[in-house]
Amino acid sequence: MMEVSIARWFDNHQCASVLMIDDLSDAYIGVYPESWKNDWGNLCDQPGSAWRFLEEHLLAAFPEIRITFFVPYARHNVVNENAPFETRKYGVGERAEFSAFLRKLAALGHEIAHHGSNHGRYIDPANVSTYRNFVHEWELFDDEEEGIEVTRRGIELFREHAGIDVVGGKYCGYRQRDNSAAIIDACGFEYWCSGVNFLSGEPGVGYFGRHSVLDFPTNFPGNAFVRLSYRTGNLRKDRRKKLTRFLQPFYNIGQYRALDALCDAGEIISVQEHISPATSSGLTQSANIVSDMASLHRLYRHLRGRSVWHANCRDIARYARLRDGTTLVMDDDRLTLRYTGTPLAEACELSLVATDPFELVAGDGRRFGSRTKNGSEVANIPVGCGESRFRVVRRDG
Ligand SMILES: [Zn+2]
Repeated sequence: MMEVSIARWFDNHQCASVLMIDDLSDAYIGVYPESWKNDWGNLCDQPGSAWRFLEEHLLAAFPEIRITFFVPYARHNVVNENAPFETRKYGVGERAEFSAFLRKLAALGHEIAHHGSNHGRYIDPANVSTYRNFVHEWELFDDEEEGIEVTRRGIELFREHAGIDVVGGKYCGYRQRDNSAAIIDACGFEYWCSGVNFLSGEPGVGYFGRHSVLDFPTNFPGNAFVRLSYRTGNLRKDRRKKLTRFLQPFYNIGQYRALDALCDAGEIISVQEHISPATSSGLTQSANIVSDMASLHRLYRHLRGRSVWHANCRDIARYARLRDGTTLVMDDDRLTLRYTGTPLAEACELSLVATDPFELVAGDGRRFGSRTKNGSEVANIPVGCGESRFRVVRRDG
């Protein structure tokens, strides 16, 4: 009898990776002379936009990257109108151009995910610094009903205006309180980013709530390879960086090791970024695609040497849920896959591996042949809810 098992990641890749970009929204803060640095998404895909910058400076070199954009659906409150800069901000549905832009990103294989309504509020709006002066959205919901209503409204708005089904998201500022998980669970999300676990070494993914929401990790800072050298706009910090930037090459050794450790352990590598360096105070946003571009190039060049499944959070979460919720039973040449997890929104592909070439024959006659990948034979098969049965046929060479 042939031994067939479920691959840890799609197509028998060793690990999975996503680029997570926070706070894409229909907003703009005119801090810099260059428009792409000021753009939070308001310029959509026009020349001079943040998206064009991303395309030309990162995606052109690494087209394999898939991005999940975390998008607040109302006017972004971190963008403070009292800032001494030109500010513009709109909510989803206010400008058809922005909805069309979101649709375009989704059509390119990227993902639009939930990131609250307006992200929260300033304690003192006259002070444009967020430092100890901003309360994030999920810290503000005193009762669960209100949180559910505000969160559900986002799901409806993305569907209504952009035709997008939002299936996951992230707490604003990774801040939550005791009722937050219940709000997320009640809204029917498939995955949620609850906390930052940079290099914590905690393996695997967890689930929470009655609907088994996958707790998506945030485990790698996009600025890892420039952290000691980039300018923040804060004089004291920048003076310190003049000294520390010489240590960056030594620091990088540890960062490469951390990436390799995640790959070796078959983990998700989730690279954390923000869309724009521009903030209402004029200081540079920590971790942003502009300041961190050289770091991102180092990171993705390194991942080219590894077996990485590049996918958005939704696809990674769906594979993990399918893998973790499926039991595989072999009886002679009959193979049964039994999915007992939370019902799937749509059929997904599961990857099966064996040491020798094989073919799976479904009840309706469809055949799925294996091919060699990472030293094993792998076949990708569509699986829905309940049971899927196949006959396993050994193939020669
Ligand atoms: Zn945010």
